[in-house]
Amino acid sequence: MNTSSEQIDLKNLTPSELAHFISSFGKERYRTPQILRWLYQHGVHSIDEMTNLSKQFRQDLRKVGFISALCPLHVEEAKDGTKKFLFQLQDGNRIESVLIPEKKRLTLCLSTQVGCTLGCRFCLTGKMGWERDLTTSEILNQILAVRETLTDKISITNIVLMGMGEPLANYRNTIKAIELMTHPDAFKFSSRRVTLSTAGLLPELEQLGKENISFRLAISLNASNEEARSQLMPINRRYPLKKVLEACRHFPLRPRTRITFEYVLVEGVNDSSQDARRLLRILRGIPSKINLIPLNEASGIPLKRPLEEKVTAFQEILMKGGLTAIVRASKGTEISAACGQLRGKR
Ligand code: SAH
Ligand code: SF4
Repeated sequence: MNTSSEQIDLKNLTPSELAHFISSFGKERYRTPQILRWLYQHGVHSIDEMTNLSKQFRQDLRKVGFISALCPLHVEEAKDGTKKFLFQLQDGNRIESVLIPEKKRLTLCLSTQVGCTLGCRFCLTGKMGWERDLTTSEILNQILAVRETLTDKISITNIVLMGMGEPLANYRNTIKAIELMTHPDAFKFSSRRVTLSTAGLLPELEQLGKENISFRLAISLNASNEEARSQLMPINRRYPLKKVLEACRHFPLRPRTRITFEYVLVEGVNDSSQDARRLLRILRGIPSKINLIPLNEASGIPLKRPLEEKVTAFQEILMKGGLTAIVRASKGTEISAACGQLRGKR
């Protein structure tokens, strides 16, 4: 790729920014859907491949813009079929994406930052600290690069922003990426199949409800009271559980949609029957479902996963109380591809 710093990475532009960009050098705005399809549906690597644009236009476009790409440095596959992709970015930083095959779904878990500032006690990404935010194109290029490794018969069905980083701490670029994931001329994912997971950054969460984009919302709750949540997630001291739930209560959900609450079960910290009953109580009135994630243990993390009986007992209390509660089987643990195990290292 031969690019100068003034050149624009076309994948950093939303559809309306792209339309503006094109019209700024005298081209018709109706070219926008054509270019979007080349970028995200055909996944072209060069402007020259956009063969329904005139030669002259392509030449003009090449002078001011370029198409970025990511190429996996390493791919590891676990016995259960989960694949972990390691990418090296232009500046040498590394990120990971995880592809998770299930019965009827093929879910791709994307990173939004190199590292994370929030330092949750159970998470290896949190332990590595924060290097920088990903650009919109770096978020989207993870999808394109993984898609290129698949045969024609298989396609990615779901996207989850649950890899490295806190999506709402990289607010603008994440929103732009979601817009392109769900745009009919770009990736065309149904908004029900794109999930943003957040530790609950309050100002951004409130802003998020006002955006003109659509997706599923997941909140990393991880505890049923302030004390345990602050112990696991230092961000709870700034944005307490009570206020996060308040924001959820007011979040403008589309009809028949629910918020997913993720709850990492940690032995002796948040796994008692009292916790389960309290959880039922605090979620009352919020259309919710719960993903229970028994802690993925890791060296350097002084926390334990509860015994299976304890997990089942916890789940049963929630179900008896009328909540949908699913225990998330950890996929790809032996290649460190499970939740909270991504560090961008080989
Ligand atoms: N920063 C965002 C998204 C990335 S983390 C967030 O926190 O929501 C994605 C999910 O992985 C979160 O729900 C988090 O609680 C979970 N997770 C992190 N470390 C984990 C671990 N060691 N075991 C199980 N789940 C973990
Ligand atoms: Fe960051 Fe999410 Fe890990 Fe917490 S769980 S440190 S918010 S990536």
